[in-house]
Amino acid sequence: MEMNDKKKRQSMMLYILIGLVVFSLLRSFVYPNIMNGTVKETSYSEFLTMVDSGEVDEVNLDRDNGEITYASGEGATRQIYKTTLFPNDATLVERLEKADVKFSAHIHDETASLLVYLLINLLPLAIFIGGGWILNRQLRKQMGDDNNMSFGGGFGLGGGLGRSGAKEVKGEETGVTFHDVAGQDEAKESLQEIVGFLKNPGRYAEIGAKLPHGALLVGPPGTGKTLLAKAVAGEANVPFFSISGSEFVEMFVGRGAAKVRDLFKQANEKAPCIVFIDEIDAVGKRRDSGLTSNDEREQTLNQLLAEMDGFDNHKGIVVFAATNRPESLDPALTRPGRFDRRIPVELPDLTGREAILKLHAGDVKMEPGIDFGVIARQTPGASGADLANMINEAALRAVRMGRNRVTQNDILESVDVVIAGEKKKSTVLSEHEKEVVSYHETGHAIVAAVQDGKAPVSKITIVPRTSGALGFTMQAEEDERYLTTREEYKQKIAVLCGGRAAEELIFGQMTSGAANDIERATRIARAMVTQLGMSDRFGMMALGQSRNQYLGGDATLTCSEGTAQEVDAEVQRLVEEGHQTALETLRKNRFKLHEIAHYLQKKETITGEEFMRILTRDDGFAPQMPSAE
Ligand code: ADP
Ligand code: MG
Ligand code: ZN
Repeated sequence: MEMNDKKKRQSMMLYILIGLVVFSLLRSFVYPNIMNGTVKETSYSEFLTMVDSGEVDEVNLDRDNGEITYASGEGATRQIYKTTLFPNDATLVERLEKADVKFSAHIHDETASLLVYLLINLLPLAIFIGGGWILNRQLRKQMGDDNNMSFGGGFGLGGGLGRSGAKEVKGEETGVTFHDVAGQDEAKESLQEIVGFLKNPGRYAEIGAKLPHGALLVGPPGTGKTLLAKAVAGEANVPFFSISGSEFVEMFVGRGAAKVRDLFKQANEKAPCIVFIDEIDAVGKRRDSGLTSNDEREQTLNQLLAEMDGFDNHKGIVVFAATNRPESLDPALTRPGRFDRRIPVELPDLTGREAILKLHAGDVKMEPGIDFGVIARQTPGASGADLANMINEAALRAVRMGRNRVTQNDILESVDVVIAGEKKKSTVLSEHEKEVVSYHETGHAIVAAVQDGKAPVSKITIVPRTSGALGFTMQAEEDERYLTTREEYKQKIAVLCGGRAAEELIFGQMTSGAANDIERATRIARAMVTQLGMSDRFGMMALGQSRNQYLGGDATLTCSEGTAQEVDAEVQRLVEEGHQTALETLRKNRFKLHEIAHYLQKKETITGEEFMRILTRDDGFAPQMPSAE
């Protein structure tokens, strides 16, 4: 057959060109849409509905990213969906089991996306080649060539999603040292020995000294427990393996124990090292508690106990655990040979707070001459995390204000933000409400200031906050107090009653604004009666047992029902006593109450000095103490 070679090459060039154009058009316009069509986003409730109706046959839960990928349908109609994992949906597993769905906890997306990626990039190539073939064939037909060519290009979009085991626990270098932890000197001191051990386990083994297998860091949230554990790893320069107790709980049966095994296996290989189990109470709860047993948790706990007994401590593995509810831990965890060392990590005291503020202030640009002592005095009860947050809020505020340095005022404002929430602009109080709130807050302040100056008022404000507070009175402790007397508790109750007392006195009405005050006053009174032995009726009898001392510290009564009634009566008596003291104090200082409340209503925020200036101004209305009983 006489074929023109030049023509042939020309037509070849032509279809390559067409193919390329088609290819790039597809890539830029069509595929993004196909991509979106491949994985369809749905809502969580749609997902549940589909599971329940049995449409779903395969589910992958990716808890790390909070995503659920699932599939439904078959063959060409198979559709992959994605939705966001609803936090703490404990019934999900049950539901999936009921619907007979294949599921797994973790997937690495790579396999799935690789497949899609390959498809995306191979498909045009195939079309291009296919197009080429077809074009070529037509050309040849035209040219009378009778070669039979066939083109097969079957693509199935099937295939399961990639699947692999749980995320591997990896040791990290923390890069945190004791310098990054301010205050907490006692905790650091007890940890110092462990650092020495990790640095040189041999020396201890030589003498025959047994070092603790584990140490339990206990304390309220945000006090730096995690930070301290990391710092030990950093100080000793050893790897840090960490896992959180709550992760175990979310896992499917058997995974928790396997993960513990895996964790210790790796730790064994990398020793000396630190294994850190955060929020251990999530796995380590007393096993006897209640009817609802949690097999998975128990399995995990048992595995943990077995591992702790099993590992060879000469290599230098130290297991740290952190919790803020130590009393709920299973006794098996805290017996000798396991977490037998308890390191309290308490809320920072005055000097500790100042040190933490200074440390975090080092990370942001500050105006010179900031007095951190003042801020530390205004923040009794704040945790290290709160303080770190305050510094950050201050920096954010400085930026908002268009400054490039943080001022003292920024920090003082951010203290309010962390304690009471952001100012709420949307809440607009009527003038009358503003007046009521002004009297309420001034009532607190006057009762506080008149009783004795131990905790003087440092600020009063009636700007509504996002926390729901319509105003607040801030008291700053002069110096740290470790003991509180019965009288001081009574005064605290009276101060808390001061807000409501002022409203009653001036407006003859009660408002809902005192709810939080009442709650706190009652809690103090109850503790006085049941735990502190400060009531006349019961004296030194313990009537309650404190629970969750690091999480607010409520108590359960341990007395008989009859006594419980008497306890209530005694609590009521104490609160009422405080209420009467407040009423009397305010009655005696009525003129000051009027003056300061109106001043506050006008200015919205006043400082402690302004307040004291008006209160102590000698105008014939000097502050009056309530007459002693
Ligand atoms: P916990 O584990 O006790 O709940 P973290 O260790 O997670 O608390 O602390 C949270 C954050 O608070 C830390 O990352 C750190 O920024 C800050 N922080 C807490 N305590 C201190 C401290 N003593 N010194 C410096 N920063 C602290
Ligand atoms: Mg923590
Ligand atoms: Zn109040």
